[in-house]
Amino acid sequence: MRQTLDAHDAPSRPLRERVFSGIQPSGASHLGNYLGAQVNYVAMQEEFETIYGIVDYHALTTVHDGAELRRLTHEMVLDLLAVGLDPQRCALIRQSDLPEHAELAWIFNTVVPVSWVERTPTYKEKRQQGVENSMGLLDYPVLQAADIVIYKATRVPVGKDQAAHLELSREIVRAFNRRYGPIFPEPEPVFTEVPVVLGTDGATKMSKSAGNTIPIFAEPDEIRRLVMNMVTDRQRIRRSDPGRPEICNVCQLHRFFGSDYLQIQDGERTARTGCVDTKQLLAERIIEFFRPMRAERARLAADPAVVEETLAAGRAKVRPILEATTAEVRQLVGIGPRRAP
Ligand code: ADP
Repeated sequence: MRQTLDAHDAPSRPLRERVFSGIQPSGASHLGNYLGAQVNYVAMQEEFETIYGIVDYHALTTVHDGAELRRLTHEMVLDLLAVGLDPQRCALIRQSDLPEHAELAWIFNTVVPVSWVERTPTYKEKRQQGVENSMGLLDYPVLQAADIVIYKATRVPVGKDQAAHLELSREIVRAFNRRYGPIFPEPEPVFTEVPVVLGTDGATKMSKSAGNTIPIFAEPDEIRRLVMNMVTDRQRIRRSDPGRPEICNVCQLHRFFGSDYLQIQDGERTARTGCVDTKQLLAERIIEFFRPMRAERARLAADPAVVEETLAAGRAKVRPILEATTAEVRQLVGIGPRRAP
């Protein structure tokens, strides 16, 4: 059986189940991105037809400097290749290379009641962080739905922070299908075992736009500095006070960087160890874990052509799918020239 997408096909129905997920180039990849989503991006390449998007239209809601956005997009391609995305197996795309995403979002806008997007939790969160209240910010989950369903993807590897958005994508699909006929499948989220990763403030979701991240490819000394500054259990004031590992973000992160986390948590609970020891150990383990990926990233970054070549290959793979869906939708809703019967 053929294992890869072929640019000569125009399959709106895939041979294997299709997967799509997007990541914003609004900052460097961080532990939340990696543990919540990127781990599954890599794993799902083996079994599924995978398309991963660097969603720069989305990032326009928070990054307002053109040169910076272009730089961050370039860096995100390198991050994704370094964590293990293989352009032979997946299609890595830049959203803005494929404006059909935005066209489908516009069509969805005519189906989606405003109240659905106003109640989205991430919209409220971003407003609280002080992100400008633009139409783009409000419309973000509609574009996200378009990103997924333009490929008729059925599975979407995302972090648990995205559960509400995925539910909204499903509602949008149902609303569209009710109005025009059943052409889109409802996408299902695929989560890792990791809960939403908290930021270095220990209080809110780790997020590029919140400035509370531990970037996975930061220099080792920077990772040490960020981990040492993490907020832990605020009630543990003296070294001899017993800690509460269940609410300490450092203890929680240890679960993903070693098999001895129960002992580490016990050390905190009994005050056998102090926060400083536990943080130092975590920082070294994070640095060690990402060391081979960091080396791979440096190797890739030395090749000035690799990013645009990867994106060109991704574009060529997805174009036929996207064109087939766009033609089908335009015909159905009655825009553009009539298609030959
Ligand atoms: P950010 O919030 O940092 O801008 P994105 O919106 O680009 O991240 O999300 C990229 C992927 O990373 C999504 O699948 C999202 O669910 C996941 N993700 C982002 N932050 C976290 C987090 N703190 N914990 C778990 N997953 C996360």
